[in-house]
Order: sequence, then structure tokens, then C-alpha cells
Amino acid sequence: MFFDLFRDDVPRGRCVLCARPDDTGLCRHCRRELDLHCALDGPLCRCALPAPGLAPGDLCGRCLRQPPGFSAGYCHWAYRFPLDRLINAYKHHERLPVERALEALATAAPLPWPEADLLCPLPAHWRRRWVRGFDQAERLATALAAHWRRPVVPLLRRQRATRPQQGRSRAWRVRSLRHAFRALPASRGRRVLLVDDVITTGASVRAATHALREAGAEEVRVWALARTLDAGP
Ligand SMILES: [Zn+2]
Ligand SMILES: [Zn+2]
Repeated sequence: MFFDLFRDDVPRGRCVLCARPDDTGLCRHCRRELDLHCALDGPLCRCALPAPGLAPGDLCGRCLRQPPGFSAGYCHWAYRFPLDRLINAYKHHERLPVERALEALATAAPLPWPEADLLCPLPAHWRRRWVRGFDQAERLATALAAHWRRPVVPLLRRQRATRPQQGRSRAWRVRSLRHAFRALPASRGRRVLLVDDVITTGASVRAATHALREAGAEEVRVWALARTLDAGP
């Protein structure tokens, strides 16, 4: 499997959060904590934000003002402790047991959209990919593809440099991302499930959806491992 790459430099057989002996990378105790603190229960808006009291198909205030081009957003986890620690450990240290634990979380649920033709990872900018040595969304999509029996088709390209989004305002991010992606002509007529690791403001997935629809994708939906709930203005 793809995580064989890191086999040399990781202590195996331990929980990545508490270091208890565990073969899966995430022990039952920590998995319970994660469920308790991070599970997104109840209705979600199309933007994958929790929307208590919202009827299926209805939109939150922000989506009413700016409807996303994607027709559904799927996410089971809030990006907060301890999942944020897990995802950050993976991003910055590329550790095998972390990847195994994240893969287990990602593939716990069945394919949420059986009509999807393919999985398309949201591409990281090449410079960030170069620094990290891998593309997290792409690896997640590969793991999901094996479980959901859909091909991974990288239909999107980054158009130009976008700087890290952390600490920037939502308006800044939306501006900088408007033309961030280009979609390949092979998008035409396809039902695309866009895969990302963490949705922060949703600006990236909105921009990516725009590019896919421009290239003729029939429908776009979004799947993310985790959702930031307090992205700020
Ligand atoms: Zn643990
Ligand atoms: Zn919404």
C-alpha cells in the first residue's frame, strides 16, 4: 500500500495520540475521545457546516447569500482536538501510523454518493507539495478509492501560487482563489466527488467546483475528512 513509504522511520504498534500499544494507530480509548469531541452529528448544510434545525436540502445563511456550486458536502468530523492533532502530525511529520489511523476514520462510512463516477482530490499547490513531499488529499482519495471502488481521476490543476490561508480574512481567500484551479476537459459529463482533507472556509472547494463545472462536469459534490467550525470572518 502507499503508506509503505514511511515504514522505516516510525514506531509501529503504538497509538499515535497516547502511545499505548495498539496496532491500528489509534487506540479504542482515543477513538472514543475523538468520537466524543469531533463527531458531527445532526443535519449539515451543503457547505458541510452543522446546521441544527435545518431541513434536508435547506441552506444556511451564508450559503443562501452565496450558494456553493457543489450540490452536497459530506463530512463526519469537526477539525478540533484531538483530530486536529492527528491531521497536523500527518501533515508535518508524514508518519505511517497517523496515515493508517486517518485512513480508518475516512473509510469508516460507505460512499455517500453512489452515483459518483470518480474521486478527484483537491490539489495542493506544488510548492507546498514539494515541501511536504506528498499531497494529503491525493493520498486520502487513493485510500477512499480502494474502499469505495471508484477511480481517482486528478481533474484539477493549480493555476498559480496561492499563499497559505492561515490568518487571512475570508474575503482575501476568496479573492486569491477565484482563478486558482483549472479543470481538464475530461471533466465533461462526469459526476465528481471532490476530496479534501480539511475544509476551512470552503473557498478552495468552491473555486475548484467552479472550475469543474466550467469544464462541463455534470455534478460536483464534496467530501472532506474534517471541517473547521470557526473559520472566522
Ligand atoms: Zn490512544
Ligand atoms: Zn451552508
